[in-house]
Order: sequence, then structure tokens, then C-alpha cells
Amino acid sequence: MNVYDSGQIQNRLAPLGYAPTGDPADADVIIVNTCAIRAKAEQKAFSFLGRMAALKQHKPELIIGIGGCVAQQEGQKILSRMPHVDLVFGTHAIRRLPQLIRRIAATRCRLVDVKLAPAITPDDFTLGAVASSDISAFVTIMRGCDNFCAYCVVPHVRGRESSRPPEEIISEIRHLVAHGVREVTLLGQNVNSYGQKEGLCSFDQLLAKVNAIEGLERIRFTTSHPKDLSTDLMQAFVRLEKLCPHIHLPVQSGSDAVLKMMNRRYDRRHYLEKVARLRSICPHIALTSDVIVGFPGESEADFEATLNLLRQVAFDGLFAFIYSDRPDAPAARFSGKIEESIKKERLQKVLACQEAFTLQKNQSMVGSIQRILVDGLSKHLSDETEERQFPVPLAGTQWSGRTGTNKIVHFIQEAPHDAGNQLLTGCILELMIDKAMAHSLWGRMLSPPIGSSGKGAQTYAA
Ligand code: SAH
Ligand code: SF4
Repeated sequence: MNVYDSGQIQNRLAPLGYAPTGDPADADVIIVNTCAIRAKAEQKAFSFLGRMAALKQHKPELIIGIGGCVAQQEGQKILSRMPHVDLVFGTHAIRRLPQLIRRIAATRCRLVDVKLAPAITPDDFTLGAVASSDISAFVTIMRGCDNFCAYCVVPHVRGRESSRPPEEIISEIRHLVAHGVREVTLLGQNVNSYGQKEGLCSFDQLLAKVNAIEGLERIRFTTSHPKDLSTDLMQAFVRLEKLCPHIHLPVQSGSDAVLKMMNRRYDRRHYLEKVARLRSICPHIALTSDVIVGFPGESEADFEATLNLLRQVAFDGLFAFIYSDRPDAPAARFSGKIEESIKKERLQKVLACQEAFTLQKNQSMVGSIQRILVDGLSKHLSDETEERQFPVPLAGTQWSGRTGTNKIVHFIQEAPHDAGNQLLTGCILELMIDKAMAHSLWGRMLSPPIGSSGKGAQTYAA
């Protein structure tokens, strides 16, 4: 979501003549787009912002702004705390960025804009340039959240849930596809309730409209709230050929008592039933989840129930977080806070428990043929051991892509460098999976690509 918002910030600044730079020392404007979901993310944002003070000493005309959830949460306090900051703009103020920046540049005033609007309007989003390397793009379909989970800051800093009309979403995706994007990830805090409030179409109907866009290869989405996961959406995985067979379905805890305290509005049985139905409708679907450890009042037995749920479901992947107090969220005022050392221990146990399942799921793919969308050259391997096992032949180029189930696959295109390697970025390829590792797979091209594809041009099959 923040990646998408950063793109929107860039789109708003481009007409003012600002272009991105990789070096903060070169910048005329520095915008720090922040996340407040956990205390650590917030600390990181402030320490980065703190480091920017030195740049301003050398370049007084530099404009420094902070946007996103931390800006929304802290507002005016940031200006008092950080004299080098010129602008604090909240999550709904991105559209007003050009006026704000112009005023600061002209008058050197310091501004705060943290107004939250009740609903999305067409002016909130704008189309921008698409980089030639962009194969995959995010598209926001809704903003805010009405669920008020007890630990979560989102409803407080992103405001009430509001959905964009389908026509706007479709035209944004068409624009992306026309510029070579092949995969979109539709974003919302709870995509399952898309359009309900406004009486637009349902989420599975929106997916069907996106599926019909010519030139688009793949559709992903995130995130689904388990309480709102409908059978119609489950069936969409079978019905819509472009919809990738992967769902991120955060469970947060395996204990009914904790789920109740979290205000998640489902219980363990309900969650497991949905997983079973989903798997019976779409047996090969990959399932990932989020878990919070150390929520206030989480007993050893509650924690054991979470481990037990992980074993029962066997997720393909898991994001595990240590609970952290968010000042605006009600759980910050709950009793029964868990000691940091216990939280850390629980996190390690959850990660260790999941590791075996992630590897098992990867291993089950060895020997299968997978269609992958090539993201580009392999940037880095998950760890050194994985790299050492597979030295790249001198005459080869190492690429990586993702399966529909969102697993990373590395593969080598064996061609002499001086002959010029085929440009595979954006291609769909069929690979034989030869080896599974903890965080990725190794595959083999089944047939050499015919001709050079360029970005997003062709599908290569065996
Ligand atoms: N809307 C999504 C989640 C968005 S936040 C959903 O409902 O699933 C992403 C994840 O951050 C959450 O799923 C949760 O696991 C974690 N998270 C949110 N608030 C947190 C907090 N205060 N402490 C620790 N983890 C938190
Ligand atoms: Fe936060 Fe819950 Fe809304 Fe997700 S559904 S954004 S966890 S309040």
C-alpha cells in the first residue's frame, strides 16, 4: 500500500518538475512516506528523517516532508520535534501535495495537512509514468478500514473504508497494461468487503472485470479478512484464469479467547472451515497468513493453540509479528502485557514451526512444471548457502520469476554473454522445478526462448 502511495506522491510531484533521484544529497525535495503499523516501522521513519537534518544544513532551500500513517498519527507534533521538517501531510492529503509544496517553496512556511475525508473521490488518484522495468504493479481499490481490530492503527490513520468505482480501477489497469505491466495486485485492507458500502459491484465481480482486460496476464490481491471471505470469491479462483491461486488470509491467533480480545469477529472453527472449503474448491491454492505473538493477555495455552493451528493448516508461508502497542489502538490500554523476552521466544517458536511447512510446500513442487512470470535478473538469493549450491555458469545469466502460487523461482539462461542474452523480463515461461530451498526454488528452462521478447511480449512454452 505504501509502495502504491509513494508512486502517487511521485505522480503528483512530476508536473512540478521534480524527478526521482537515488541520492538524497541531490534532492530538492525529500518526502519520507511512513508506516505506523508497528512501533519499529515508526522508529525507522523517525531515524531516517533525523538523518536528513544534516542535508538541510548544507542546503537550506531543501524541502523535507513526511507523509503516510506516522504523519497522520503525529501531525503538528512532528514540526515541534523536528525543526528541519517543512511539511507533514496525512494519508488523504497526497492529492493536495502540489499546492503544499508550491506554498512552501514560495514562502518557506511550515505546513500540516492531516484532514481525513469521509470517502474517496476521483481526484484522489492520478495516473503517472510507468517505468519500462515495471512488470508488476499495485492498484489501490479501496482505502481505510471499518473493522477496528483492537491492536490496529489503520482505521485511525487511514480513515473509514471507501471503495473506488470499478471503471476507475479498470482504466488505471488498462493504462498500466498499455505500458507493459503484466501483473496487478489489487490492494485494500479488506478486499472482501469491496464496494459493499457504496453499492458498487462485489469483489468477485470486480475480479471478473479485471480478468477481461486484454494483455493482462495475472491478477493478485491482498488482504482478505477471514470473516468476509465468500464462497463466490473462492470460486473465482477456479473461474478466472488470470487470478493467481494464492490467498493471504491473516489468522492472527489460533486461540478463540485472543481472537475475541482482538475483535477479529471469527473464531478458530470458523477460520478452519473457510480454509477447508477453499481447499475443496481450489485444491492447489497457496495459503499464507499473518500471526501476532504476545497480544496482551495471551497465555501459554493461547500461544500453544496458535502453534497447533499452524500445524493443522500447514500454510505455504507466514508473516509473524511481535505485538506492539499503537497509541491510538484500544489494545494499548489492555492489561496483561507480555514481557518482551517472552514475546521474542514465542516469535522464534512460531518461525521454527512454520519453517518446516514452507520447505515441505516448496519440496512438493520439485518435478513439476510451473508457469512463471519473469521479474528480471536475480537480485539476490535468500541466503548464501542457496547461492553456493548453484554457481551460475560463466556463460549464463541468472533470472528470477514467480509461480502463480507466488513462489520465487531462480533459473539460468545458458547463453554466451557476447552473443547477447535474450531479454526475458516480463515473459511467461514454463520451467521444470529441480530443487527446493527454504525461501525459493530452482528451475530449468524447458526450451530456449525463440527470439527476443522485450518487456512483456511473449509466452514461451515447452
Ligand atoms: N488489513 C490486513 C492487515 C494489515 S496490517 C488484515 O486485516 O489482515 C498487516 C499485519 O500487521 C496484520 O495482519 C497484523 O498481523 C500485523 N499488525 C497489525 N498491527 C499490529 C500491532 N500493533 N503489533 C504487531 N503486529 C501488528
Ligand atoms: Fe487493521 Fe483489522 Fe482493518 Fe486489517 S482488518 S486493517 S488488521 S483493523
